[in-house]
Amino acid sequence: MGKNIKQIAIYGKGGIGKSTTSSNLSAALARLGYRVLQVGCDPKSDSTNTLRGGQYIPTVLDTLREKGKVAANEIIFEGFGGVYCVEAGGPAPGVGCAGRGIITAVEQLKRLQVFEELKIDVVLYDVLGDVVCGGFAVPIREGIAQHVFTVASSDFMALYAANNLFAGIQKYSAAGGALLGGVIANSISAPYAKAIVDDFAQKTKTKIIEHVPRSVTVSQAELQGKTVIEAAPDSDQARVYLSLAKKISKHHKSTTPAPLAIADLREWASKWGRELLRMESGEISSQAAGI
Ligand code: ADP
Ligand code: MG
Repeated sequence: MGKNIKQIAIYGKGGIGKSTTSSNLSAALARLGYRVLQVGCDPKSDSTNTLRGGQYIPTVLDTLREKGKVAANEIIFEGFGGVYCVEAGGPAPGVGCAGRGIITAVEQLKRLQVFEELKIDVVLYDVLGDVVCGGFAVPIREGIAQHVFTVASSDFMALYAANNLFAGIQKYSAAGGALLGGVIANSISAPYAKAIVDDFAQKTKTKIIEHVPRSVTVSQAELQGKTVIEAAPDSDQARVYLSLAKKISKHHKSTTPAPLAIADLREWASKWGRELLRMESGEISSQAAGI
């Protein structure tokens, strides 16, 4: 292993569960025997916390600003299961582009030949994807990642962000950009939520790679500063993340999604809105609605 390195970017709107999913995925991949590097590319810099007992690690941008030059052991830290953790960091709030951190981190990891030195099999980039700025598109545009997955719930804002991401992927797809692996449906706790994300995936010509339930096990693990894989390895939730890890380790063919035009997306959402209202009022049963 180590030669056919797989580079994956996880996008999604803020607070949707990217870091939770990424860290559990990294931990699960490590349990399957892969050598994993997780790169937190959110200016929040908390991507790898649950792999590190709840601890923050110094960011690439901060270390570079302080020292002018960085060594591998100043920016790469080993976490649970031997997962290597990096936080790109971000500019001071209100100053510059959030994408700066991603660009700098990628440059430094390349300069230090980290992937080769550490014989990495899988690199996971955890990227904030609801900022419509050029920086966020870097891993896609430059083809740094081969496969993009998006974390989305059934909430309209999450699907709106996913649809925006699809438009970005489509735009760069012909020029060698990253393609879409699929959607990780997160916080799925009601049948209608599954029906909504499934319908969205179908309409945008993509696939749901995993449905991840909303689970108190995630909160319990997070409060201990751990992933579910570490805190509750035999739980149902851990099995879901292991299933996701297996699918992603085997995944090799990504595709160009078909984002909806904004008017169509709004129309699609209001159709679902009417459907849910009718379900609530008992006018139609969820069975009749096909849920
Ligand atoms: P992001 O990285 O997208 O900003 P986080 O991964 O930090 O989002 O998740 C935000 C919050 O949602 C966290 O407190 C996390 O524990 C919680 N969360 C995410 N996914 C789930 C889930 N499947 N079940 C329960 N809580 C979840
Ligand atoms: Mg995060």
